[in-house]
Amino acid sequence: MPSTVAGPEIERLIQLLARLPGLGPRSARRAALHLIRKRETLLMPLAEAMRVAEEKIVTCSVCGNIDTRDPCSICADPGRDPSTIVVVESVGDLWALERAGAIRARYHVLGGVLSPLDGVGPSDLAIALLVARVAAGGVSEVILAVNATVDGQTTAHYVTDCLTEYPLKVTRLAHGVPVGGELDYLDDGTIAAAMRQRTAF
Ligand code: ZN
Repeated sequence: MPSTVAGPEIERLIQLLARLPGLGPRSARRAALHLIRKRETLLMPLAEAMRVAEEKIVTCSVCGNIDTRDPCSICADPGRDPSTIVVVESVGDLWALERAGAIRARYHVLGGVLSPLDGVGPSDLAIALLVARVAAGGVSEVILAVNATVDGQTTAHYVTDCLTEYPLKVTRLAHGVPVGGELDYLDDGTIAAAMRQRTAF
C-alpha cells in the first residue's frame, strides 16, 4: 500500500479527480490542492454546480443530447430548421458543431460507432430512433457528421443504407485540408481525400 500524504477524504477527492479524462494522479493532486486552496471561490461553487448537474441533467428522448430539459433546448428551439438532422457520434461532437456555429439544424446523437471488434452493433446505437424520426416525415436532409475514422465511415454507410427508402438527401462532411493547414504536414489519406473532393473555385 503506497503511503498517503493526506487524510482519507482528501485522498478520495484525488482518486475521483484522477478518473477525469486528461488527468492522471499527479494532475489530480494538483487540482485537489488548488480546489482546497480556493475553497470559497472554486470548491464550493463547483460542488454546487455538480450537485445541480447530477440532479437535473437528462438525456433528450428525441435526439440524445444532454440538457436540463426533455426535449432539449435544441429540439425545442423554433428557430432551427427541423428538416435537417445532423448525425453525430457523441454529445461532445454536437457541442463542437454548436461552438463552430456552422449550422442551425437539429441533431441526432448515435451514442458511439459500429465496432465489431468492441462488440458494438446497430442495436447498441440510436440508429432505429433516427430512422423513426425520418419515417415520421418532414426531414429533407440527413448530414452524417461522424468522425473520419474507419468505424465512423462504416457507421455512415450503415446509416445511409437504413435511410435509402426515404425521399431525402443524405450527405456527409467533406474530408480534406483543415482551415489554416499546410499540405506538407498532412497525411497521404487526407491529401487524397481533399483532391477527390475538390470544389470549383
Ligand atoms: Zn434534443
